[in-house]
Amino acid sequence: MSFVHSLLFLCCPKCRTGKMFRHKPYSFKGVTSLNKRCPHFSTSYQLEPSFFYGSMYVSYALGVALAVAVYVLLLLVGLGENGRTSFFAIAAAIVVSAPYIYQLSKVIWASFFIKYDPKISNKN
Ligand SMILES: [Zn+2]
Repeated sequence: MSFVHSLLFLCCPKCRTGKMFRHKPYSFKGVTSLNKRCPHFSTSYQLEPSFFYGSMYVSYALGVALAVAVYVLLLLVGLGENGRTSFFAIAAAIVVSAPYIYQLSKVIWASFFIKYDPKISNKN
C-alpha cells in the first residue's frame, strides 16, 4: 500500500495495514476511537504522554487547505464573489469534513514519527 493510500484510508504508519481507529470517521460509535496499539502488529501509537497534541497543527493546516480549495472552486464556478456564499460554503465543508480531518490529522502526525517498515507489512 502506498504512503498516500495508507494516509487516506487512515492506516497504521508502521505497517500500512492495520487501522489506527476502531471506527470509521462518520460512524456514530465514536470518531475519537483511536487504538492504543496497531491491531495488525501491535505498534504503540502513544510514543509519549500527550503525543497527539501536535496533530492540532496538522488539523489546522488541513482545515485551511480545505477552505482555500473550496474558495478557489467557488471562484472557478463563479460564486466566489459573494462573501456570504463563500463563508457558508467553507463553513459547511469544514463541518462536514471535521470527523475525517480529525482522524486524518492524527494519522499524518503519527507518520511523522513512526517510520514505515515493509518487513512487518508483508506478515499476515
Ligand atoms: Zn501497524
